[in-house]
Amino acid sequence: MKYPYMHPREQLVTIMHRVYGYGMTTTSGGNLSILDETGDIWITPGGIDKGSLGEPDIVRMRGDAVVEGTHPPSSEYPFHRAIYARRHDIKAVLHAHPAALVAFSLVRRIPDTSIIPQARAVCGIVGFAPYAIPGSEELGRNIAEAFGKGFDTVLLENHGVATGGRDLLEAFQRFETLDFCARTLINATALGPVRSLLPEEIAMADHGKNRDMPEFDPGFRSSTERSLRREMRELVHRAYRQKLMTSTEGTVSARIDGDSFLISPYGVDRSYIDESDFVLVTAGRRERGALPSRAVVLHREIYAANPGIGAIASAQSPAITAFSVTGTTLDSAIIPESYIVLRSIPLIAYGRPFSDERALAREISPRAPVALLQNDAVLTTGATLTQAFDRLEVAEFSARAVLNAMKLGAIAHIDEAALDAIEEKFGLV
Ligand SMILES: [Zn+2]
Repeated sequence: MKYPYMHPREQLVTIMHRVYGYGMTTTSGGNLSILDETGDIWITPGGIDKGSLGEPDIVRMRGDAVVEGTHPPSSEYPFHRAIYARRHDIKAVLHAHPAALVAFSLVRRIPDTSIIPQARAVCGIVGFAPYAIPGSEELGRNIAEAFGKGFDTVLLENHGVATGGRDLLEAFQRFETLDFCARTLINATALGPVRSLLPEEIAMADHGKNRDMPEFDPGFRSSTERSLRREMRELVHRAYRQKLMTSTEGTVSARIDGDSFLISPYGVDRSYIDESDFVLVTAGRRERGALPSRAVVLHREIYAANPGIGAIASAQSPAITAFSVTGTTLDSAIIPESYIVLRSIPLIAYGRPFSDERALAREISPRAPVALLQNDAVLTTGATLTQAFDRLEVAEFSARAVLNAMKLGAIAHIDEAALDAIEEKFGLV
């Protein structure tokens, strides 16, 4: 079922399973709530296994009284209530203790969300609430005060994080995106200083060439298009499960023929994406009523410049993004698989993917099928969707291997002569 049509009980269970399934809370930690139109608060119960939470476990509260449910509400109910009392635009609250964000809360540092444009847009600036004992009115006051200053995302000292939103999905996306930033920043510490984007650089990303495209009526849909839609849906869901994409980040496109391709839509949660959400783009026009990803112009130029490319993917995964936000080149000459699949990986300056699309598209070739976009993403191409997806996985795994190796000692790369032998044996151009 589509998320906005779900009952509050189902929304709470669905999102709790996403939080738990993604490894962002423990069996005992974390609580979520929704404020409904009557002023009642639906909240997860205290002391129930978060991995097996069901709809009957949800508690409905009116003030201090349980009006529906067999369990007591979460012990953190006081701070949920305090946030709603303070901020009338917030209708859902999420709280958890994911390891990366807890790490930031322990050192009293706020994760920088200006490392990639979308993260800054989703999370906003992050607030900070001083420590108080869990379940206390004092903790409620501290957190509500931070939300009262206008923050939608608040780090809790020696505790975790709380996020709010117009609905629980928005609160979840803020939470997940902030956790992604925290994991990326922790990975980046090994590589060097992180470049933070300036407000005007973030604004550049939202100039909306996708909105300027003329529309057309697609008419009959070919069986090639239909099977690609299905393959793309599976691939995006898989990339989400593999933590290569987050709910708000990651784009896929696939060529149907010539100047006609399908691309992921703008602003649809990646784990709920459906066949019908992908947008058909033909000769620079988008199908009527649909808004493609902002990367649409770059994808079109890549297809035009490279007849052998049938699919393109881009994603922000936490290991490879650490390279991207520190402007560090990833050398693929670490193991034969990485070199064969990734080849040389150009580092593309921030801003070029949405201002210099044509020249950038010509830098993609069979010798450089993958590009690292600074403060943005890794972009992979392939003859097929499977090949582009494999490159995404290999890029992330290679980046992770390098980060791990740096903790162990000096990295020995495969030398030129051995690379020549690989090229010959595997028929690389
Ligand atoms: Zn807690």
